[in-house]
Amino acid sequence: MARIVMKFGGTSVADLERIHNVARHVKREVDAGHEVAVVVSAMSGKTNELVGWVQNTPKVAKADSPFYDAREYDAVVASGEQVTSGLLAIALQSLGVNARSWQGWQIPIRTDNAHGAARILDIDGAELIRRMQDGQVAVVAGFQGLGPDNRIATLGRGGSDTSAVAIAAAVKADRCDIYTDVDGVYTTDPRIEPKARRLKKVVFEEMLEMASLGSKVLQVRSVELAMVHKVRTFVRSSFEDPDAPGMGDLLNPPGTLICDEEEIVEQEVVTGIAFAKDEAQISLRRLADRPGVSAAIFGPLAEAHINVDMIVQNISEDGSRTDMTFTVPTGDLDKALKVLDEQKDKVGFDVIQSESGLVKVSVIGIGMRSHAGVAAQAFSALAAKGINIKAITTSEIKISILIDGAYGELAVRTLHSAYGLDKK
Ligand code: ADP
Ligand code: ASP
Ligand code: MG
Repeated sequence: MARIVMKFGGTSVADLERIHNVARHVKREVDAGHEVAVVVSAMSGKTNELVGWVQNTPKVAKADSPFYDAREYDAVVASGEQVTSGLLAIALQSLGVNARSWQGWQIPIRTDNAHGAARILDIDGAELIRRMQDGQVAVVAGFQGLGPDNRIATLGRGGSDTSAVAIAAAVKADRCDIYTDVDGVYTTDPRIEPKARRLKKVVFEEMLEMASLGSKVLQVRSVELAMVHKVRTFVRSSFEDPDAPGMGDLLNPPGTLICDEEEIVEQEVVTGIAFAKDEAQISLRRLADRPGVSAAIFGPLAEAHINVDMIVQNISEDGSRTDMTFTVPTGDLDKALKVLDEQKDKVGFDVIQSESGLVKVSVIGIGMRSHAGVAAQAFSALAAKGINIKAITTSEIKISILIDGAYGELAVRTLHSAYGLDKK
């Protein structure tokens, strides 16, 4: 007997037929004698629709509008998960499985006050555990919790993954299975590169990089929580026959295990390629080269909640002026330019240049720590395809390259094959 948390994403609960299929996956584990908690997303497309409604409501509009109320955004967008949790509980009951739905506030899942992008602070798992021990399946609405103001708070897009891992940690589950529309984590997004290979295991650190560099298969925060709380997390498919052989395997279920480095027997140098679309580049030309300038640029951007990435500063030629380039999400470009313009006198630059519609392609692998020449290989592969590089940043286990958006998919496929990741 084990305790298992099963999470089903939007496409897995997209309609009543799929919800019924999910119920069969859950029943399989219950029939095997396991204690089960389930976390569900909203039906696919639902959250986008709800976000669209909020954004098109007069006076609420965008997050930087003075009328915008993030608490009401949360009240609206959290509703998608309320629907699917109830529907799945009904589907389970119709299969003879004892089940009930739980909203975030009922457990409660306590979060901080950052409405729209809240972080889970604490989950009281006692009641869930008691009910599970009594044989009742807990069907938990993902993506939502209760803020310190006693109002619904949502966890940021893709947040049901984080709900699932956090609940798994809180109820001390033996395993957390993230069921989605692919049968595991691949060397890159299989929708972009059909030659992508499924990985049997991925190290936490690599999965963190992949998620934060654009692979939306798992929300970044869920990987952080799995790593910190040592939650045994698998990514697997909900589209397979729930009763196919091996689906109920307790130790080696089909899919990809996210795990510690020690569990990997043969480590490749490069594990995967991630990419993030809709990046924009900002360059400040002939900037004063003196202490405090970077703080004067990035402080106000941070205060405006603009996520800055890939910062590159040139070495000054004459010791007095330099250039600074960095990227922001395209959606934040106008806001960022406005903030910078207000800082112009303080920062002392000549001109701002910007470009949107760029793509950041990243090569990830912990094997890079001990191998030289990995970056050079990427540069020559891209050069051979005539792809121009606009900016480069590296860390111990990743190389990120900024290029024109038109070449994004070509770059992903080029790098995928350059590092020998293509399916044989
Ligand atoms: P869910 O609704 O189940 O949460 P998501 O759409 O959030 O599903 O995540 C699954 C998707 O992630 C896949 O359909 C796939 O296109 C995408 N994806 C991106 N990178 C990868 C990768 N490296 N491996 C697997 N899937 C990936
Ligand atoms: N439904 C939410 C979203 O679309 C949360 C999730 O699916 O994980 O972002
Ligand atoms: Mg998701």
